[in-house]
Amino acid sequence: MIAEPKINIDLSLQVLFEKQKQNAQNIANTTAKERIAKIKKVMNWMLENESQIADALYADHKKHPAEVKISEIMPVVGEAKFIIKHLTQWMRAEDVDTPLKMVGTISKIIHEPKGNCLIISPWNYPFNLALKPLLQAIAAGNVVILKPSEVVPHASKLIAKMIAELFDENEIAVVEGDADVSTALLKLKFSHIFFTGSPAVGKIVMTAAAKNLCSVTLELGGKSPTIIDETANVKAAAQAITAMKFLNNGQTCIAPDYIYIHQSKTDEFIQEANAYLAKMYGNDAFQTPDYCRVVNDRHFKRVKGYMEDAVAKGAKIVGGGRSNESENYIEPTLIIDVNDGMKIMQDEIFGPLLPIMQFADNEEVIEYVGKGEKPLALYVFSKKRKNIDFFIQNTSAGATVINETTIHYLQDNLPFGGVNNSGIGKSFGKYGFEEFSNKRAIVENKFAQFSMFHPPYTNRVKKLLDLVIKWF
Ligand code: NAD
Repeated sequence: MIAEPKINIDLSLQVLFEKQKQNAQNIANTTAKERIAKIKKVMNWMLENESQIADALYADHKKHPAEVKISEIMPVVGEAKFIIKHLTQWMRAEDVDTPLKMVGTISKIIHEPKGNCLIISPWNYPFNLALKPLLQAIAAGNVVILKPSEVVPHASKLIAKMIAELFDENEIAVVEGDADVSTALLKLKFSHIFFTGSPAVGKIVMTAAAKNLCSVTLELGGKSPTIIDETANVKAAAQAITAMKFLNNGQTCIAPDYIYIHQSKTDEFIQEANAYLAKMYGNDAFQTPDYCRVVNDRHFKRVKGYMEDAVAKGAKIVGGGRSNESENYIEPTLIIDVNDGMKIMQDEIFGPLLPIMQFADNEEVIEYVGKGEKPLALYVFSKKRKNIDFFIQNTSAGATVINETTIHYLQDNLPFGGVNNSGIGKSFGKYGFEEFSNKRAIVENKFAQFSMFHPPYTNRVKKLLDLVIKWF
């Protein structure tokens, strides 16, 4: 549904919410087979409408169809297949052991759906980041309102069309709109909110959720440091880093935000990174269809502002640096001699700029990383186990990849998410299913006699209690 003028938003959303609430128990009672059928519908729609999806993302920010396949179609289809394979097992009650003090009872955990869920998604991978959590919510048996980002209107519209074609709105509905619509949605008494976006808006979402004591999953962002030590294979590091940094024009939550490199390797890294950028995008990235654009004018100005601020304060551009405002184009850019006084080292960049800091001693790295917020991802390029362990043990992050970047995103068996400022809660596969479920504890009394501990507290009861304390 498309949100109506402001005065009617609250009312129409309340009506939709109530409709879903009425239907929530029916959906909660669905079997694994029924949920799998719904997941297949979403998966098949993605596969059958690949060219429509590619057209929408080209219209939004000139994204190449191959990149759409890699970063939108594959992750959603992969998540769907993983859930289809495992859902029956995840939905089974989990038996737990009976401690001695509970002899005569049996206990288990059942995963019941949380109920009315809200998913708010960002613009940078609009299908992927709206539909992966949606599949997890469906797997767990919930009803869902999904609000995609208004920043990519073509993608948002297509997501709304897809869901309207596949589901009745009393089960899953898309509500399109901006922050005003989100604000109206956040007033409703959802049981769970799954938000992907910036830490600043994450705080607004969590504050609103607190009013209803609603649980949240916050998939946020921040600066993901990328450490290259003196033993690293610099060529391989430069290739892995530039490929993932400039995918989607640097607009990736887990993109390497900045490089922290051993000073003995800096020159080699700059040379290798520039060589690989030229190989991927040619000598003028403006001309290649393989390199998409900054999503809009506001973000173009923000990212270009980081470059200008850094240069004005003494940083040097050592690769790229050109831009074209009419197309929101910024060349893949490497910047050296950056410091904390520059905006580029304060904010999450979320654009095609790669600042490079240098260190002489490993201690400097952990001190610097430790001063900042805990990152969503931290990457280490090294051949020395001692250094790898040192960097892992002395920092905290949502995930760490060694000698690559971002590939943890492909690992269905790992939880995905941040820590504090970079996120709360986890998603993907079983972790996503659990996030959208309430782990309900069930105990059944078969033949235990708990009445022996009831008043009156005779000597016999006291002795029994002593025995319990001593032995159980
Ligand atoms: P954003 O926080 O601006 O917007 C995200 C969503 O929140 C959008 O749907 C938007 O309409 C809505 N929104 C905006 N203002 C709001 C408000 N005041 N109240 C309620 N809702 C509001 O984020 P974005 O610009 O779309 O995405 C970029 C951010 O998302 C980056 O920080 C990035 O790192 C992060 N991100 C994180 C992940 C992850 O999985 N952890 C994935 C992608 C992006």
